[in-house]
Amino acid sequence: MKFTRRKFLSTTSFVAGGAIIGCTNPKQVAKKIEPVSKKSIGIALLGLGSYSENLLAPALQATQHCHLAGIVTGTPTKIPKWQSKYGISDKNVYNYDNLHEIANNDEIDVVYIVVPTGLHSKYAIISANAGKHVWCEKPMALNTIQCQEIIDTCEKNKVKLSIGYRMLHEPNTQKLISNLGSVPFGAIGSVNADAGYRGGQPRGWRANKSLGGGAMYDMGVYAVNGIRYATNQYPISVLSAKHIIDRPELFEEVDETTIFELEFESGIKATGLGSVGKNVNGLKVECEKGWYSTTPMQSYNGVQYEDSTGFKMDAIPGMQQSLQMDNDALAILNNTAVMAPGIEGKKDVHIIEAIFKSAATGKRVVL
Ligand code: NAD
Repeated sequence: MKFTRRKFLSTTSFVAGGAIIGCTNPKQVAKKIEPVSKKSIGIALLGLGSYSENLLAPALQATQHCHLAGIVTGTPTKIPKWQSKYGISDKNVYNYDNLHEIANNDEIDVVYIVVPTGLHSKYAIISANAGKHVWCEKPMALNTIQCQEIIDTCEKNKVKLSIGYRMLHEPNTQKLISNLGSVPFGAIGSVNADAGYRGGQPRGWRANKSLGGGAMYDMGVYAVNGIRYATNQYPISVLSAKHIIDRPELFEEVDETTIFELEFESGIKATGLGSVGKNVNGLKVECEKGWYSTTPMQSYNGVQYEDSTGFKMDAIPGMQQSLQMDNDALAILNNTAVMAPGIEGKKDVHIIEAIFKSAATGKRVVL
């Protein structure tokens, strides 16, 4: 399938297509959506690594509309601990080889894909073909072909697909998004989004390019997504991009830091950075008559909103992931649009691919 700019623009956008439609008006941010049905959605976490163990499983304990019902793991030694901690019955435990049998389990409604990025499409496709809704971690996949395969399989099986963009569910980020074009700020002039942390030597899949390791896939995706949700525009090109390796002895295969510049038809200037070598974390939008920001822009907690009028919003209590999973569960219960559909994940992966191409060639890459 040819992946054209026209096709991108004709599909959902963050504000117009329903992705964050409930967040464009600050009054709506606080509005509580009630489920039509009282059923709680059963979630199976696929991949019991650090994000599932430390963030998603604890966050599921605080959700109202979904619960941890099952696990999918290739490591049998993890099973007893998860079963005893979360009361998961034997029949709700799967491995990567018998995952398709989840089709026969009506206690599980969603498979949440939390394995290395290069494996997202493989397991998202098996899960969708088993008739389960798919929640897929960021970045959606390694390339746009894999993203489209996930989208097509979910559509074919009439299941919902949500990408794990937790910031779209975070109220201070939603406030920033709702400012677009509003008084007193006016039109956006420029956006800068930096997402990075100082990590050590990448290990395991994070050191492996074909599994989705490296700064741009891991962290740069937040910067790309942040620029898009702040502007609600799709760039026309990657004007420039560059990899910066400060510790060549630690980064043989994957990028340590990648900087990039996106070009917009409207004239907005956007710069971004993804890094696993630098502690940077912020999104700032400069407008005709002021500015606004979230700092940090993508940490698990502590995200604060601030603007040039002096208005500030403190970090929210609780976990972003609980908000995310409740919103995604409600979309299933009420059969409404999800906030981060597959097409949005695919758009970001398309931009990331172009950033790599621009960094490799030193040239502008048209999107
Ligand atoms: P991790 O390395 O801690 O865990 C990965 C899991 O996948 C492990 O349980 C591992 O056993 C399993 N796995 C299955 N097949 C594998 C294979 N062939 N090679 C390696 N591992 C394999 O990683 P993580 O931090 O939990 O990240 C998992 C996914 O979640 C990634 O896509 C990552 O980008 C995403 N993530 C998202 C956030 C967020 O804030 N949304 C945060 C962290 C990670």
